[in-house]
Amino acid sequence: MEQSHQALSSKSEAFIEKENKYGAHNYHPLPVVLEKGEGVYVWDVDGKKYYDFLSAYSAVNQGHCHPKIVAAMVKQAQTLTLTSRAFYNDQLGPYEEFVTKYFGFDKILPMNTGAEAVETALKLCRKWAYEVKGIPENQAQIIVCENNFHGRTTTIISFSNDENARKSFGPFTTGFIKIPYDDIEALENALKSTNNIAGFLVEPIQGEAGVYVPADGYLAKAKALCEQYNALFIADEVQTGIARTGKLLAVHHENVQPDILILGKAISGGVYPVSAVLANDAIMNVIKPGQHGSTFGGNPVAAAVAIAALEVVRDENLSQNAAHLGVVLRTGLNEIASRNPLITLVRGKGLLNAIVINCEEDSDLAWDICMKFSEYGLLAKPTHGNKIRLAPPLVITETQIYECLGIIERALNDFR
Ligand SMILES: *Cc1c(COP(=O)(O)O)cnc(C)c1O
Repeated sequence: MEQSHQALSSKSEAFIEKENKYGAHNYHPLPVVLEKGEGVYVWDVDGKKYYDFLSAYSAVNQGHCHPKIVAAMVKQAQTLTLTSRAFYNDQLGPYEEFVTKYFGFDKILPMNTGAEAVETALKLCRKWAYEVKGIPENQAQIIVCENNFHGRTTTIISFSNDENARKSFGPFTTGFIKIPYDDIEALENALKSTNNIAGFLVEPIQGEAGVYVPADGYLAKAKALCEQYNALFIADEVQTGIARTGKLLAVHHENVQPDILILGKAISGGVYPVSAVLANDAIMNVIKPGQHGSTFGGNPVAAAVAIAALEVVRDENLSQNAAHLGVVLRTGLNEIASRNPLITLVRGKGLLNAIVINCEEDSDLAWDICMKFSEYGLLAKPTHGNKIRLAPPLVITETQIYECLGIIERALNDFR
C-alpha cells in the first residue's frame, strides 16, 4: 500500500519552516519548494521536475521565464525602472497605444495587481454613473454574482460570499447587489429593481469557484440587458483573459466587447505585477488628474514587460493552442472519468479546466490526490474543497498533455 505523502527532504523542510516561522499564515501551500521554472516545467530544491498545472492562477500563460519577456524586463530594468506618473516616460505611451489597439479600446488605466484593477473599475463605474448616467450622489448600485472572486481588498470582500475571506474584516463597503451567477432572469430583475444601477461586474468563467462555465449565451444576453438598462458591463478577465480559454478574452466566445475590461495576471506573463483597466473615452474620461492613481502603475518596466508578454501570446498562437489542447485534455479526462468513478465531472474551456472529485467539499481527498500528482511530477491545487483546477501554461504541447493525462490517471488509480 503506497503512502499518500512523500517524505520531504530536509532541504525542503528548512525552507518551509522559515516561511512558517517568519511569514504570516495567510496561505496553505502544497509542501513543494520550487527554485526554477522554464516553460511548462518547474523544479524543486532537490532537482525534481514537475509539470505546472496551476500556472500561478493563470499568470504564467506564456510559460515560466519566457526568454523574450525576461529579456524585455532586464533591458528596461537596466535603463529606467520608475519615474512615478509625476513625469512622462518613453515606455508608457507606446504601451498604452499597443494595449488599447490590441484589445480594441480607446484608453487604458494601468495598475499593478488584479485587486487594484477591480477597485479601479468599480470607482470608474461609480463615477460614470454619477457624472454621465445621472444617478444621485452616493446612490449607485453595482450588481455582482454569488461565489465571485475578484480579489482581497476591503471593498472587494464586501461583496464576496466566502465567509473565510470576510469574517472579522468588517465593516464593509455598501452599494452592491448580489445575484446568482449564470441567471439571466435574476440579472434582469436586479436591473429593473431600481434606476440606480451603475454596472454589472462578472467573471466570464468563475475560476476560483471551481471553473464554473456559464450556459452558452449568458454573457451576450447579460451584455444586451446592460445596454438596455444603461448599466456598464464590467468583465473581470484577470484569470480568464489573455488566451487562457482559447480566445484572447473569454467574452470573445460570445462576441461581447465589455464596457470596462479588467486584466491582470498573464498580461505580464507572470514576471512582474501588471494589471489594467480598459474602457472607451465616454467612460474613461470621467477620471481627471488627482482622482485616482498608483506610484508603480504604468511604470517603464511594467510597460515593456506587458508589450513583450502580449506579443508572445500573438506570435506563438497561444489562443489557438489553448483551444485545441483544451479539447484534447477534456476528452482525455472524460475517458479517465469513464474508467474511474473518483471523477464525477470534467468542465472548462480552453486550458482553464477542473475535475470534480467524488467526495464532500470538506473532505481531504482532493488535497491527497494533489499530493499524489506532485509525487508523480505534476502540480495542481484543490479549489473549493473537492475541485482540482487543471490549467497548464498555454505553451504546452499535445505530447505533454498526453503524458500529463497518464500521470493523472496513474495517481487517481492509487485511490481506488
Ligand atoms: C486573481 C484574481 C483577481 C485578483 O488578482 P490579484 O493580482 O491577486 O489581486 C481578481 N479577479 C480574478 C477573476 C482573479 O482570478
